[in-house]
Amino acid sequence: MTHYSYCGNSGVQLPKISLGLWHNFGFADDYETAREMVIHAFEQGITHFDLANNYGPPPGSAESNFGKILKEDLSSHRDQMIISSKAGHLMWDGPYGDGSSRKYLMASINQSLKRTGLEYFDIFYSHRYDPNTPVEETMQALVDIVRQGKALYIGLSKYPPVQARVAMNYLKERDVPCFIFQDKYSMFNRLPEKDILDITEEFGSGFIAFSPLAQGLLTDKYLNGIPEDSRAANPSGFLQKEQVTSLLVDKVKQLNAMAIQRGQTMAEMALAWTLRDKRVTSLIVGARNVSQLKDNLKALENTSFTKEELERIDAILDG
Ligand code: NDP
Repeated sequence: MTHYSYCGNSGVQLPKISLGLWHNFGFADDYETAREMVIHAFEQGITHFDLANNYGPPPGSAESNFGKILKEDLSSHRDQMIISSKAGHLMWDGPYGDGSSRKYLMASINQSLKRTGLEYFDIFYSHRYDPNTPVEETMQALVDIVRQGKALYIGLSKYPPVQARVAMNYLKERDVPCFIFQDKYSMFNRLPEKDILDITEEFGSGFIAFSPLAQGLLTDKYLNGIPEDSRAANPSGFLQKEQVTSLLVDKVKQLNAMAIQRGQTMAEMALAWTLRDKRVTSLIVGARNVSQLKDNLKALENTSFTKEELERIDAILDG
């Protein structure tokens, strides 16, 4: 049931919907639920799992839990999976546990491999552009990571367009092309439409969208207030209550009415919309439980929009 598409010019196909382990997979979360989600995803053809060194909480624990699930439940399926990790944000104290230096990336990938129990990552990302490190230093570290067999492919995340070009050129010249670019993209965050999608196409790189539901805002969960078991209700979360504004909720109400007319939930329509651009290889969704994941996967049952529907969505978003 899952649809796949080739990642940029590469010969690797990714599922249109991938699973991200940023929230809900750490030691602070329920292990059984995390395990059920990973297994359900894999059974439904979601072959791509997105990690980073700092996912948890505590940082590192999502990689440890994923490694445990892999070992105990899915060990014979490693070759059917694309597993990614990243380094770039704060991970440990001192000057070498943050940023994008060669020192940090090299140490971090070794730690990530140990935590997950993997011999290699399929994709290893520079998690962010670091203005204090020359792009060339970060890129050479990525090239060497591939040459050392610690990752098969390289990805970049959240690089501003100018630095993305420099980085992609550097990688191309060394025959380790940028395999995939990861950026925030949803109905509420359309910045990649300005430059990045063009740049990825120009360099033959794939594009994968993170937070395609705007962390849950693009679902029907906030239509009548902030539920206790939601990301916005968690005071230490990345989505703050103040971000759930009446203006946004009003837009989601209008979008939700459209989704109902299409026979979809709000989440399904938001995900389907994010996939409408053929340059978007995959979306990384997050989920709190299997039921959310099931809803999200149903998005693939109808990903086509009429011209009128797209215009109406633009009008609501611009309103
Ligand atoms: P989403 O925008 O998909 O938000 C996921 C959250 O939305 C869930 O945790 C849940 O929140 C809510 N939700 C999901 N499905 C439904 C549904 N069907 N109905 C109602 N609510 C739903 O993505 P994330 O922000 O979680 O990011 C996804 C992944 O992207 C991450 O796991 C990570 O892998 C990657 N990422 C990468 C970044 C980078 O810097 N490169 C940055 C951020 C993310 P609730 O708890 O409220 O139920």
